[in-house]
Amino acid sequence: MKLISRRRFLGAAGAIAGGMLTGRGVFAAQEAEGRIMTVLGPIDPKDLGLTLTHEHCVVDFLGAEKATAPRHNGDEAFQIILPHLKALRGRGCRSFVECTPKYIGRDVRLLRRLAQASGLQILTNTGYYGAAGNKFMPKHAYSESADELAARWFAEWRDGIEGTGIRPGFIKLGVEKGKLSDLHTKLLRAAARVHLKSGLAIAIHSGDGEAALDEIRVLGEERVAPSGLIWVHAQNDPGPIQIEAAKRGAWVSLDGFSEKNRGRYAKFLGSLREAKLLHRVLLSHDHFWSVEGEGERGGLKLHSGGAETAFVAVFQHLLPDLRASAFSEEEIRQLTVTNPAEAFTVRVRKL
Ligand SMILES: [Zn+2]
Repeated sequence: MKLISRRRFLGAAGAIAGGMLTGRGVFAAQEAEGRIMTVLGPIDPKDLGLTLTHEHCVVDFLGAEKATAPRHNGDEAFQIILPHLKALRGRGCRSFVECTPKYIGRDVRLLRRLAQASGLQILTNTGYYGAAGNKFMPKHAYSESADELAARWFAEWRDGIEGTGIRPGFIKLGVEKGKLSDLHTKLLRAAARVHLKSGLAIAIHSGDGEAALDEIRVLGEERVAPSGLIWVHAQNDPGPIQIEAAKRGAWVSLDGFSEKNRGRYAKFLGSLREAKLLHRVLLSHDHFWSVEGEGERGGLKLHSGGAETAFVAVFQHLLPDLRASAFSEEEIRQLTVTNPAEAFTVRVRKL
């Protein structure tokens, strides 16, 4: 007889009690813990490797409810984006966290094709983006409760996204500056509840540091530890709140690196290093291709910067800058390999 561990057995019993005995759903609930979920399935965190933790392939800024199907042509997007991902592999990058939520252009089938063809390990997400005046929030997000929203997002984790079997590797939200509105507080409560059942990290596009601290507060009320939170776009904060959030255990995502803001990054990373907080920091570019135009079908256009520069600046400027300012190879590895693996490992972070 094959032995199963007590934990494994209890997990299965819990899954049955929770009504989630749906074949692969049981797999997700039990086998994903301690691993990282990519669009091609779970991997061991030690295989994540050098990772860009906040990037995009296609985004569509048309607005939720306006387009019934992806407006971009999947083949065209594939042809345009693939060479850039292959080039990333050539630079030693192994993993790529794709942060486009549903209703703003998420296309998991495209991501799967790109992962297969490029050899990059790609993560996708579940959750809703409430920033930009709620333009990308579906109607039901206003009327449903936090638990109802959580049930929708958890279903993507349990069953896969849109019938593809592709699972999210994290939860992605977006909120405005300042204290959270009631609507956005509800999004956080929903995310927290999904986190406690799944162990998926919660990455939040945050208007400013005040929003980030309020996120820590709401997650705390839901018993989720700050280490479950990735503060997306922390580079927009002047600095002090980055230190505070990192001290409290949140991930500070400096994800808008470009040649132009090298000085700003040097200052932030210097301060975080001095405060011995490099173990809470993530780095990326936040590049994307947007679908242009209002019609049912748009053409793809590369975001400002031009095709030559997509996903390059971290390798061309940031890593050399760090070496020039006497960051050790161990510190650079921490920022680009160790931290991403820790941040995106599927694990419940409970207070
Ligand atoms: Zn982004």
